[in-house]
Amino acid sequence: MQIVDVAKVRSRFSQAGHPQVIEMLCPHCLKEATFSIKDWTQHAGRVAATETPCPRCGRGVLFLNLLDHRDSPGKSTLYVHPDPVGRTGMAGADYLRHLSAPLGRTYESALKHYNHGDWGTAALTVRHLLEGLATRLLTDAHRDDSLMTQLETLTERVDLAAPLEDIAEMLAPNGIFGRQFSDETCIDQNTAQQLLELAEQMVAYLVVLPGTMAELKSRIASAPVPLRRGNTAA
Ligand SMILES: [Zn+2]
Repeated sequence: MQIVDVAKVRSRFSQAGHPQVIEMLCPHCLKEATFSIKDWTQHAGRVAATETPCPRCGRGVLFLNLLDHRDSPGKSTLYVHPDPVGRTGMAGADYLRHLSAPLGRTYESALKHYNHGDWGTAALTVRHLLEGLATRLLTDAHRDDSLMTQLETLTERVDLAAPLEDIAEMLAPNGIFGRQFSDETCIDQNTAQQLLELAEQMVAYLVVLPGTMAELKSRIASAPVPLRRGNTAA
């Protein structure tokens, strides 16, 4: 079950406000499709469901609209089932969109090409994304350098230690968290939650990132080199 971005909802029913027309990739055939919903079945004013066939492949797609009156009155979250068979966007892609809206769109377009099975176009789009990212992080000063040179320049420019310095400051005896450790009975849920998030971010940065990069590198190194099309012995 996956959340559908509200931007994909083109129109809504006037009375209950449930989505009526949704434009999104079909989770079965991964093609862009317009789902026109005839009606919703609502239960206890909390949840509404409907099954609509994909106009491209004809297979049923289940939509679930969860109405949350408690946290945000009038708001609802739209879910789709099944999960798409292709790759979904990475967690935190919003930060990329925030850094640069065009780069966010390039990433989405790379995913879309990948999920349509256009491998060559997907790979070229990813290269374009990496070039754009390097240029953006170098504040456009090295626009004409090759990608390799740009990435090498990046290692000198980006201060990868800065996030750790921030954390060290917070945990120091006089820091915002360090101060509270003198009496742990005063620590509330909010502080505990923030500390847990901080630890998770550190684990992601120091352990998960190097680990997954090393694993990817070894997969790249051990992958068989694909034969060029037309290069095979005729
Ligand atoms: Zn379909």
